[in-house]
Amino acid sequence: MEQLETLPEIFGAYVFNDVVMKERLPKTVYKSIKKTIDEGEKLDPAIADVVASAMKDWAMELGATHYCHWFQPMTGLTAEKHDSFINPTSNGQVMLEFSGKELIQGEPDASSFPNGGLRATFEARGYTAWDCTSPVFVKKDGSNTTMFIPSAFISYTGEVLDKKTPLLRSMEAVNKQAIRVLRALGNTTSKRVTATLGGEQEYFLIDSSFVEERIDLQLAGRTLMGAPSPKGQEMDDHYFGHLHERVASFMADFNRELWKLGIPAKTQHNEVAPAQYEIAPVFGTLNVAVDHNHLTMEVMRKVALKHGFVCLLHEKPFAGVNGSGKHNNWSIGTDDGINLLDPGDSPHENMVFLTILMSIIRAVDKYAELLRASVASAANDHRLGANEAPPAIISVFLGDQLSDIYQQIKNGGASCSGEKTKLILGVTTLPELPKDCTDRNRTSPFAFTGNKFEFRMAGSSQSLSGPNFVLNTIVAEILGEVADVVEGTPLSDVPAKVQSLLQKFAVEHERVLFNGNGYAEEWHAEAEKRGLPNLKNTVDALAIISDDKNVDVLAKHGVLSKGELISRQEILFEQYASIINIEGLTTAAMAKRQVLPACVEFSGALATTVNALKDAGVEPTGQAKLLSKVNGLVAELSEASDKLDAAIESASGAGEAHEMAVAYRDVVIPAMADVRAAADALEQIVDADVWPLPTYAEMLFCR
Ligand code: ADP
Ligand code: MG
Repeated sequence: MEQLETLPEIFGAYVFNDVVMKERLPKTVYKSIKKTIDEGEKLDPAIADVVASAMKDWAMELGATHYCHWFQPMTGLTAEKHDSFINPTSNGQVMLEFSGKELIQGEPDASSFPNGGLRATFEARGYTAWDCTSPVFVKKDGSNTTMFIPSAFISYTGEVLDKKTPLLRSMEAVNKQAIRVLRALGNTTSKRVTATLGGEQEYFLIDSSFVEERIDLQLAGRTLMGAPSPKGQEMDDHYFGHLHERVASFMADFNRELWKLGIPAKTQHNEVAPAQYEIAPVFGTLNVAVDHNHLTMEVMRKVALKHGFVCLLHEKPFAGVNGSGKHNNWSIGTDDGINLLDPGDSPHENMVFLTILMSIIRAVDKYAELLRASVASAANDHRLGANEAPPAIISVFLGDQLSDIYQQIKNGGASCSGEKTKLILGVTTLPELPKDCTDRNRTSPFAFTGNKFEFRMAGSSQSLSGPNFVLNTIVAEILGEVADVVEGTPLSDVPAKVQSLLQKFAVEHERVLFNGNGYAEEWHAEAEKRGLPNLKNTVDALAIISDDKNVDVLAKHGVLSKGELISRQEILFEQYASIINIEGLTTAAMAKRQVLPACVEFSGALATTVNALKDAGVEPTGQAKLLSKVNGLVAELSEASDKLDAAIESASGAGEAHEMAVAYRDVVIPAMADVRAAADALEQIVDADVWPLPTYAEMLFCR
């Protein structure tokens, strides 16, 4: 294919998008598939052969020899199994074929994916089903070119085994209930309501040579030991700083690869921690944006390697500096262009906006625990509540203007919105700026940011499916409640009815509103007084998933059955235990096989020196002091690593998934911390030349 030059030529060049479909599909087929994509109509299997054949021709022109169903099993990663287009003929040649059936359905062996007890391992069959609402794309990996078909993944018995299916189901749920509400409020034109997502992705770039020397980064994705660098992030000199050339070149290539895949990469900048960066796309339809985020993570890892970097997506690669999150910007909008979270110029009169806003607040307060659980992971535990990311307590930030309107609703009805003012900068050559009605708040886990909510608790490596299917479901639940009350009310009586309902919501959920500093200690005390849940770690957060209230809401809206939900809980407990197990074993291995030998070598040389000096009649005061210090820490490290071994052994036999997770949290994590404390203390006094690991200062500051 010819060389791509300009950005518009590059953008979407590897995507079977609307333009390509219009160009290559017969009119009736195009219309039919558009009906499914845009209006949620059932996919007509009769058109599948035609679509498949057009796709194959298009993909082959881009060099594809294979196709694959691309799905999202419970590993949290994506999975793919490639098949070539070839079909041998009797005369020893091949035909290139791709049928509608192959497009619509795949049958991967599913036995080795996590299923949480949903099925026995010998029941191997699983199905993948084409999600035609997320476009097919072609991707090159090395010299291999494959056509990717975004797909859902279910078991032979029809149970959900993936992260996409509940997301799609939850989008249906929110559509159904939101349309009911819109109709009841007098909207007769909108046909569909779609959830939208803009996911901001944070990441670290580390020179690959350092990663080669650290098995913790290789196996656990984070440093399990390492003394703080003398310089950290205290100068605030990295945040939004100018881009280092090598990093900028990485970003240029990275953007190009994303654009080819139709991912609208938009914003890029240095983040707070040294060596930390962010990329944000323009928002889009939720399921497509989640797919795009998966691709983004994959592409960034790949492109980083080409530039001699390793891209770390772990939530907390380095202790002592900020970790990485993924801000989940979420809204719902109609097919005729109304963003339901757009307050407009006079929000107090905007009944639809206020209804949606208040319903979301109610949903978030009522199901705060489930929302918290949706972002729980061993890695994210290092962030949430650690003074750099929102606390584990869920609260909602509305800002001044909407908080004021909230109070008006609570007191009987909203009659005014705060005025927009101007900022005068006092320099005639600078423009006057319109001042936003609300400031921003960085510390809130769930912040209204002008025309969307930003859920900030998701971790950088997580699939965005979990938090969004929970968000959609709980919002659908409350919108359903609103529709039940308002439906059938004559339009003239609707405003009064809505006001009284929203007043009730305002009274009941005021406790979840918080505009202050979410990092502050006082907030934790205050939140406790207000009765807000504070699930501090993954194990506690996952435990509530199976509460009746949570089971009921997901089942009621057809997002996950009880069995499917419980299986997920089981998988997540297992994953937590497995992650801490890997970290524990890696910590022990580094302590025993790298750090201790280096310290033995160093103390041996010191001891020789001490003796030699004594023989020479010189008092080795400093050397002897250092030797005894090193010796003491070596004893501590050795004992701590023995204890860690024992802790891992006891935790691994602690019982069922839940008990095991508890044991890893309570026994292994503290034992790892003790090993680290001794190792980090040694790092600060042992000869840099014998220290076996690249240091924080090197990793964070050498580019
Ligand atoms: P920041 O929070 O870093 O200042 P922005 O406010 O510019 O970033 O936007 C963050 C993200 O929110 C972007 O990905 C943007 O496309 C997305 N966004 C904007 N409007 C919506 C919307 N209606 N629905 C979902 N995401 C949105
Ligand atoms: Mg943001």
